[in-house]
Amino acid sequence: MDLKKLSIFLKENDIPAFRLNQVRDAVYKNFAASWDEIPVLPAALRDRLRHGIHIHSVDTLDTLVSKKRDAIKFCFGLKDGLKIESVLLKLMSEKWSLCVSTQVGCPVRCPFCATGKKGLKRNLSPDEISDQFLAAAHYLKTRGTQKIGSVILMGMGEPFLNYDSVAEAMRTMADPELIGLGQRHISVSTAGHVPGIRRFAKDFPQCNLAISLHAAEDRLRTDLVPLNRTYPLPQLAKALKDYIFSTKRRVFVEYVLFEGVNNSRTQVARLNAWLRTVAAPKYFVVNIIPYNRTGGPYKAPTRERVKLFAELLEATGIEVTIRKSMGEDIEGACGQLAGK
Ligand code: SF4
Repeated sequence: MDLKKLSIFLKENDIPAFRLNQVRDAVYKNFAASWDEIPVLPAALRDRLRHGIHIHSVDTLDTLVSKKRDAIKFCFGLKDGLKIESVLLKLMSEKWSLCVSTQVGCPVRCPFCATGKKGLKRNLSPDEISDQFLAAAHYLKTRGTQKIGSVILMGMGEPFLNYDSVAEAMRTMADPELIGLGQRHISVSTAGHVPGIRRFAKDFPQCNLAISLHAAEDRLRTDLVPLNRTYPLPQLAKALKDYIFSTKRRVFVEYVLFEGVNNSRTQVARLNAWLRTVAAPKYFVVNIIPYNRTGGPYKAPTRERVKLFAELLEATGIEVTIRKSMGEDIEGACGQLAGK
């Protein structure tokens, strides 16, 4: 919500300032999504606000719930007609995790990713990022289900290519007077944007950092994640080394597994060796994400091949998790968000 705009509106209309706090609490703490859901305001004031101020900068156009009810995809409309997507995932039994978008489309153009195929349309504003949380929280509230316990900025877009807006949205999410998520419950996933990692280490040392690595050799990684051309692996390794040195935090390494491309024994050895050039194994958790088909040339590995890769990597002393694919039937799985 644009609180600055609301504050100006209240001043210009000689409405007492305490109304701002009432609206802020209703929207950020009770997840009101319409003026009628804020009965503490006089009806006449609600009427004036309805015609002057949007509570959310995103409108829910569609929601899709996966068969297993462990993923809910939102299609949000922006005020200029563009669309973005967010996904709620049930990672732990009690709470939801929300994956939010930071750009409309993405300029990185990873060849396996539905978002990347469309290129970049524009950056999202800070409100357009944090309002995805408010809209999803409102959805859950109206269904009386569990709350959102964590946020990961890894939906559509490369967060660090929209750093200032992402940082402001993260401050809104962490601010106890606003959304109030603990910083440790906020994660950013980058394709390896080195200047962004360096700023993030200074600005958000308590938040979590995830790197979409997918390969530990430059030629292959440039094919899979074209941003690697600008920030090749030695530069990325140095940035991560400095990040770990200054924050003492672990880094989550995302590794999408493609059959016959990056899942051989040699690739396991390369990944292990590269991580060790950065820091000791205790500083990493490698999340293996079996590829979800998005119509490209890549093949999904079998369950056995995924397990073998994980076991071989684990045997090197690195903590490994295999991400269970959720939301594939609603195209809400990793790499499938396309703002359709
Ligand atoms: S995988 Fe991430 S960085 Fe790559 S194109 Fe898709 S959204 Fe962009």
